[in-house]
Amino acid sequence: MNAINHPNTSMLHEPYPSKDAYGALNMPVYQAVAYEFETAAQMEAAFTGKSPEHVYSRVSNPTVRYFEQRVKTLTGADEVIAFNSGMAAIANTLITIACTGANIVTSPHLFGNTYSLIAFTLKDFGVEPRFCNFSDPVEVEKHIDRNTCAVFLETITNPQMEVADLQALSKICKKHRIPLIADTTIVPFTAFRAAAFGVDIEIVSSTKYISGGATSLGGLVLDYGSCDWQHSPKLCSLVGQSDLSAFACKMRREIYRNMGACMTPDVAAKQLTGLETVAVRYERAAATCRTLADRVKGLDGIVSVNYPAMEGHPYYAVSRRQFGEYPGAMFTFDMTSREAAFRFIDRLQLIRRATNLFDNKTLAIHPASTIFGTFTEELRQSMDVSQNTIRISVGLEYADDLFHDMAQALRK
Ligand SMILES: *Cc1c(COP(=O)(O)O)cnc(C)c1O
Repeated sequence: MNAINHPNTSMLHEPYPSKDAYGALNMPVYQAVAYEFETAAQMEAAFTGKSPEHVYSRVSNPTVRYFEQRVKTLTGADEVIAFNSGMAAIANTLITIACTGANIVTSPHLFGNTYSLIAFTLKDFGVEPRFCNFSDPVEVEKHIDRNTCAVFLETITNPQMEVADLQALSKICKKHRIPLIADTTIVPFTAFRAAAFGVDIEIVSSTKYISGGATSLGGLVLDYGSCDWQHSPKLCSLVGQSDLSAFACKMRREIYRNMGACMTPDVAAKQLTGLETVAVRYERAAATCRTLADRVKGLDGIVSVNYPAMEGHPYYAVSRRQFGEYPGAMFTFDMTSREAAFRFIDRLQLIRRATNLFDNKTLAIHPASTIFGTFTEELRQSMDVSQNTIRISVGLEYADDLFHDMAQALRK
């Protein structure tokens, strides 16, 4: 194929690893658990990794592998591994890297379950959570020591909409020889090249934009091969052992198989279709988001609108540098009280009352009482999750229709 093709073009025309029996134009769904061999010797070769055949779908599956390959073509990642949810991708990544006595330096501004995973689940196994202010790279560096196994962040936090300076953090990570791991779910990799900003490992909840309209749960781990694992006590022995990085080797050959959180072939088929249109869907939804955020900020009852593309936003400059014109298709706004926020949500007629992000339909939620509803008020405050905030995930409707629904919900 022509070398000048745009990655999105190459991704759409990604060849199959082997010819389909019927010449199907779409990758078939290989709804199979096990794979048959002709001889014992061939079986041995496949099971011991000396030949590339699939053996069992918890380990690898042709449809899932093809999905991973397309994401590789699109992003230029060295290795891509698909999981059955975004949380599985995050948990498996941290389990691959962390061990008892290690610490993870991260922000308290995290997706609710990610916060709980790091603050409680991994802590019970002796992995120390170190929460600090990620808008200040100097403070982040102060929390790093020789037991730090990773710096973990979300590229745009939700619902705070904080944007960390990835290049500044990458410099610090390189100096301390630890990986910079970013959950980039809020801006898809078709629009934001994480590796160019120094991210070593990118994690995506493909449930969101990629699934193509909330069709299925999924998660992706992208390894850009840019971290030197020589200094990781857990992974250094795997350096140079295969054509994979030490991280990808540990994850692919051990953690992925043992945790069993593999993506299933039916989900891979759905998300393969979603992947074909994610670039255009994202451009449309993000442009609508920007228009809507601008238009609603003058409405009575809205105290403030939080979207990093708005001038005067505390992260405007860094957001512009990293994400260009559109920092995702989600914004938040504050009302005067929790009661006003509940009233607004109850009055919506078009926008749906639901969690999730980047469905094709626009969704509204009150994060403090839902996603963070089981957290104590003290914990919510430490995470800057306010009772007055509403989050809007923008879909593919027309901006006018969304604006009119919000305006009518604000009227007395
Ligand atoms: C949704 C989400 C997750 C979790 O993904 P699931 O697919 O629901 O497990 C993690 N991080 C961010 C930023 C998310 O929006």
